[in-house]
Amino acid sequence: MDRKKLVDNFDDLERLLTLITGELNDTKLALTRIVEENTTLRIENERLRERLDDLSNLPGEEQHVKSSTQKISKSRLNLENIYEDGFHICNQFYGQRRIDDEPCMFCMGVIYS
Ligand SMILES: [Zn+2]
Repeated sequence: MDRKKLVDNFDDLERLLTLITGELNDTKLALTRIVEENTTLRIENERLRERLDDLSNLPGEEQHVKSSTQKISKSRLNLENIYEDGFHICNQFYGQRRIDDEPCMFCMGVIYS
């Protein structure tokens, strides 16, 4: 292989790598957005479930009170799982990734209040 062809090949390879790196970054960004959107929907779903349980809880019926309490703690557990997966469940940073699994006081407040 002559030197000119070698340099040309190298240039082609460099262009290709730059293109792939760009595609990779775009895909990573899109994936991050999808994961955050998915997490936001999971949180939303848990909160709506909790709300529904509150509404279907008729006063004076002990059975309902008991099952509603159980469902609320299940909902808390689900939110805790989302938090443990590395996402914010607090109103301040709703659905965003916790950078380096940083602890969040607001999230703690949601789980343990
Ligand atoms: Zn948080």
